[in-house]
Amino acid sequence: MMRHTERSRAQTVRGTFRVAILAAVAAAGLVAALSGARAAEDCTGPLTGPNFSIPSGMVGFGRVQGLPRLPLKQNEYVLTIDDGPRSDTTPFLLDILAERCVKATFFLVGKRAEARPRLVQQILEGGHTLGTHTYSHPDLSNLSSEAIEAEMLKGRDAVEAAAKVEGYSPSLRLFRYPGSSGVPPILPKPLIDMARSDGLTVAGIDYSPQDWRNSPPEESFKRLFDQWGDRGVILFHDGMANTLLLLPMVLDELQRRGAKIVALNP
Ligand SMILES: [Zn+2]
Repeated sequence: MMRHTERSRAQTVRGTFRVAILAAVAAAGLVAALSGARAAEDCTGPLTGPNFSIPSGMVGFGRVQGLPRLPLKQNEYVLTIDDGPRSDTTPFLLDILAERCVKATFFLVGKRAEARPRLVQQILEGGHTLGTHTYSHPDLSNLSSEAIEAEMLKGRDAVEAAAKVEGYSPSLRLFRYPGSSGVPPILPKPLIDMARSDGLTVAGIDYSPQDWRNSPPEESFKRLFDQWGDRGVILFHDGMANTLLLLPMVLDELQRRGAKIVALNP
């Protein structure tokens, strides 16, 4: 998610991005681990959970949105990553996930997917699930319902086109609107009605470290576990250097707690 107030911060971050990422990864001692990370897609590890099929009648889910929660079992969690694909961070995220043998759902921004179809392919090759996140990531509160629907559908079409390869033509069901980790749980009813009429499921969230702030990973880690529950959907963001440090910390903690990461099957 990226609101207006967050955009300037993100732009500041982007200036020193490559250096920051390399420093962050080196500091975490991840370089050696990442080099061999692209091994088996179907590996299993302590965190690897089963596939989870979203019930067919479910038109939306997420505690923060005031929607029903996914019917997960105790200690099962879903990893979701918004705002990609980004050439600076997506490959690192994929390596971290591959190293732990866990699958995530990537909610991609249409125009980014359009510009970087190879990264979309890499996400699929890693066995992850795709969702959509509008075409240009606008502030929906400033748009008419017609413009919101156009963003939603154009975004879906762009990600589907980027994901398409010979013999595989995806039909994407999961939609996450920008601003989903926002503190006020706003979900205009027309949005969910619109998504339903277009065959989309509104994918909300249960927990967020608010890593779009790109604050030190320890702070984000505390924010996440301060609101913790025994199952649910976790939101991370692509494009944030500190998330490359935060994600392994969270996965270590989940492993310590005996949690499983389930792969969403829309
Ligand atoms: Zn977003």
